[in-house]
Amino acid sequence: MGRTSRIPGFHKLSVEERLKIVREFAELSEDEMAVLGKRGHLDIQTADRMIENVIGTFELPLGIAANMIINGKDYLIPMVVEESSVVAGVTNAARMARSGGGFFTSSTGPVMIAQIQAVNVTDPYGARLRLYEKKDEILGIANEQDPILVEMGGGAKDIEVRVIETALGPMVITHLIVDTRDAMGANAVNTMAEAIAPYVGEWINGRVYLRILSNLADRRLVRASVRVKKEEFKGAEEVLDGMVYAWAFADADPYRAATHNKGIMNGISATVIATGNDFRAIEAGAHSYASRTGRYSSLTHWEKDQNGDLVGTIELPMAVGLIGGATKIHPLSRLVIKILGVKTATELGEIIGAVGLCQNLAALRALAGEGIQKGHMSLHAKNIAVAAGATGDLIDRVAKRMIEEGKIRMDRAAELLKEFKK
Ligand code: NAD
Repeated sequence: MGRTSRIPGFHKLSVEERLKIVREFAELSEDEMAVLGKRGHLDIQTADRMIENVIGTFELPLGIAANMIINGKDYLIPMVVEESSVVAGVTNAARMARSGGGFFTSSTGPVMIAQIQAVNVTDPYGARLRLYEKKDEILGIANEQDPILVEMGGGAKDIEVRVIETALGPMVITHLIVDTRDAMGANAVNTMAEAIAPYVGEWINGRVYLRILSNLADRRLVRASVRVKKEEFKGAEEVLDGMVYAWAFADADPYRAATHNKGIMNGISATVIATGNDFRAIEAGAHSYASRTGRYSSLTHWEKDQNGDLVGTIELPMAVGLIGGATKIHPLSRLVIKILGVKTATELGEIIGAVGLCQNLAALRALAGEGIQKGHMSLHAKNIAVAAGATGDLIDRVAKRMIEEGKIRMDRAAELLKEFKK
C-alpha cells in the first residue's frame, strides 16, 4: 500500500504513536528520530495540550537586545527569531537612541472589538438604531459571560453598529467594544459575541452568521517616539537625510512600505513570540492598520526637528496579553516576562511598539548608509557556511575567510570547505 496522509483518529494517538506513523511516512532514520525526540524547555505533555497532533517541540534562538531605555527605564528585550541581524539591529539602534533619552510611549488602553454579522435585514438603518436602543441589554448579556474580567475593571463597554455595502447586499455589523485588561482577549470577546448573537438576530429580524473579534484592533493602539541627536551622525550627516528620504519613499509607495513594515515586524514579532503571544494577530493588526487610509503605507514617520535631530514615531494596534494564550503556559515565556519586568499588558504592548520603532531605526540607518548587506551578511556568514556543509570549527573558519574576502556566498563557502578539508 502507498503511503497516505489520511490517518483517522490521528489526534487520539499518543505522541509516540504519532511519531511512529511520521517515521514510516517520511522514512526517518534512527538518528533523525533521536533529533525529533530531543526535548527543550517546553515539556511534551504541555505541548500536547497546547496544540493538536503534537509529535515534538521546535526551538528557535532566544536573544537579548541590550541598551533599551523606554520612558526613562532600562529594559533588556528578549527576542525569538530565526533571522540574523534582528537582535543586533535593535541593540545598535537602542544605543543610538540613548543620546535623546531613549524611547517614549503611550497607548489607548486594552480595548478590543468583536464583530457580529447580520444579513438579510430588510431595514438595515432602522435595525441599526434598534440595536443602539438595546445597548444596555447587549452590554449586560456580554458582561454576564466574564465576571472575572468585569471584576478587574474590564468588560464590554460600548457598541457601535455599522451598515456596510457588500457584494451580497447590505449587512448590519455590530461591534462590541470590550476592555480586556491584561488578556489579549480573543477568547473573551468571542464568547461575548456568541452570547449576544441570537438576540441581535431576533431584534433586527436578520440572519446572524459570523461572531468573532477583529484583528484591526484600532482601539488598542500603542505609540512610541524617539529623538536621535544629530551628533550621532557626525561625519555622515547625509545618512540622516537619507533616512528621512527612505521614510518618504515607504510612505508613498506600497512596494517599499511592505518591506519597511516587514523590518518593523522583525522586532515586533520576535518580541511577541518570546512572550508567548499570538504573532499572527499582531501581524494582521499591523498590516491592516497600515492600510487604513485605503493605501498601504508606513507604520512609522521620520522627520528632522528644528535642531536637525532625527525624530521617529510609530503607532499601531498591539493586542498582547499577560493572561491567556501561551504566556502563562510556556515556561520560557514566563521567564521572558520576568526579564522584561512588565506588570500590565499595556506596558508590554508599549514596549513592543518601541522595539518596532527601534528596529526601523536600525534598518533605515543601514539602508541609508552602507547598505543592509554588509552587516547582515557578516552575521549571516556562519549560516551560509553551515548550509554549505561546514561543521565544528570549520564553520568559523569558512565564515571568517568569506567576511575577509567580502565574498559571502554559498559557492565560495563550498570552495573554502574543500580547501580547508584537504
Ligand atoms: P483566555 O481566554 O485564555 O484568558 C482570558 C480570560 O482570563 C479573561 O476572559 C478573564 O476571564 C481571565 N482573566 C483573569 N485575570 C485577568 C486579567 N488580569 N485581565 C484580563 N483577563 C483576566 O485568553 P484570551 O486573551 O481571551 O485569548 C487569547 C487566545 O485567543 C490566544 O491564544 C489567541 O491565539 C487566541 N485566538 C485568537 C484569535 C484571533 O486573533 N483572530 C481568534 C481566536 C482565538
